[in-house]
Amino acid sequence: MALRFFNTLTRSVQEFVPRDPAGRKAGMYCCGPTVHDFAHIGNFRTFVFGDLVRRYPEFKGYEVMHVTNITDVEDKIIRRVRESGASLRDYTGKFEAAFLEDLKTLGCLLPHHLPRATEHIPEIIALIEELTARGIAYQAADGSVYFSIEKYRAGGGQYGQLVKLNFDELRPGERIRTDEYAKESLADFALWKARAPEDGQVFWPSPWGEGRPGWHIECSAMSMNILGPGFDLHVGGEDLIFPHHEDEIAQSEGAALQAPGERFVNYWLHVAHLMVEGKKMSKSLGNFFTLRDLLTKGYSGREIRYLLLPAHYRESFNFTLENLNAARTTLARLDECVAKLRETAPSAPAEPDPRLIEEIASALDDDLNLSAALGALFEWVRHTNRLLSEKALSPAQAASALAAWEKADHVFGIGSKPIDEASAEIAAQLEQRQAARRANDFKRADAIRDGLKAKGWLIEDTPKGPRLKRV
Ligand SMILES: [Zn+2]
Repeated sequence: MALRFFNTLTRSVQEFVPRDPAGRKAGMYCCGPTVHDFAHIGNFRTFVFGDLVRRYPEFKGYEVMHVTNITDVEDKIIRRVRESGASLRDYTGKFEAAFLEDLKTLGCLLPHHLPRATEHIPEIIALIEELTARGIAYQAADGSVYFSIEKYRAGGGQYGQLVKLNFDELRPGERIRTDEYAKESLADFALWKARAPEDGQVFWPSPWGEGRPGWHIECSAMSMNILGPGFDLHVGGEDLIFPHHEDEIAQSEGAALQAPGERFVNYWLHVAHLMVEGKKMSKSLGNFFTLRDLLTKGYSGREIRYLLLPAHYRESFNFTLENLNAARTTLARLDECVAKLRETAPSAPAEPDPRLIEEIASALDDDLNLSAALGALFEWVRHTNRLLSEKALSPAQAASALAAWEKADHVFGIGSKPIDEASAEIAAQLEQRQAARRANDFKRADAIRDGLKAKGWLIEDTPKGPRLKRV
């Protein structure tokens, strides 16, 4: 079956057909973090989804070029830099490093490109020059350069591709300088912001004088620079649809670098909001979590990833700590199954059993139905556990089942618990118990076993030797 997604551009579920004439390569851009603070769990819902939009086509044999930008100059950042007194790079560098570490903690594949806006100023300026040359952008009396929605539309450009807009509200010449605004503030938006006293040392020279880029133009310039003027997939949170993504389309298609009839982006995928404990996340409600807050509470990145996976990306998702605890229990069942398969399987590689793979693929082809795909996975875990307990799986069958799980996990990215996750101290005690048994000192062996049990570890004796299991 073919892969289909819901495309915000057409408001319909569409078959994915990449531009590559060979049908193999696909370009994908995911709007990355604005590195003014640690990213919160709502942000990570989008990034985990972006990771899946890369992983699943890869699983199907596409070669995906994944770009996630780092917004390291923008209104909020400038404000924080001013308040902190740090340099722009020192300030953003800290949060950029934290972001990359958090991606890794969540089992996300590192994007192939992580362009920083501040390192693409020449491309940003060139794009604004293209727009001014075409008469779509103009420098206003305040020294800033704006995108003229009126001129763009007069030239055949379509503003309002992702959202319906009321152009009766548009008053020609009305301008907006902030990076974030609502649909109701429909107005010419800033591409280049003339240097203001509050910008401090954050400015670059340009044909329009010293200043800094607007947020929207950064993404247009970086995405087209790396993926070409037209590419396949663009991912982001639904809060970015307007104005950010609408403005990206206007700037990129306004510069008309695409071949005639070609769009800037063919498929726009947007992730719905995340709520925490049934409410909009907010610091005053005490339900605002960065990934780091959750790790401090003792949860793992893997558990958090697993919890984020099954909610459909187009539906808002209620994140609760209770469900995070349930995720831990569910993953333990999977780990148990995989560990037993490893004990039964010979070490030689095997062909994956196709059934699990087919079930997962048919669920994910259907607009990335992760919940159905995980349902198939856990049905398989139940079935496999039963066969294992009945000793009905031959080593070859176990190897094939294990290979199927490993292939399926290229999409899920949840991995399995390492065979020996016990600390060095616990492992040393297990070794001492084995030594006591070899010396026929069963009293000591049992005492060590009881000691381990008190610390939360059970020893299971298996044909391949003893194994530690969490109580
Ligand atoms: Zn963006």
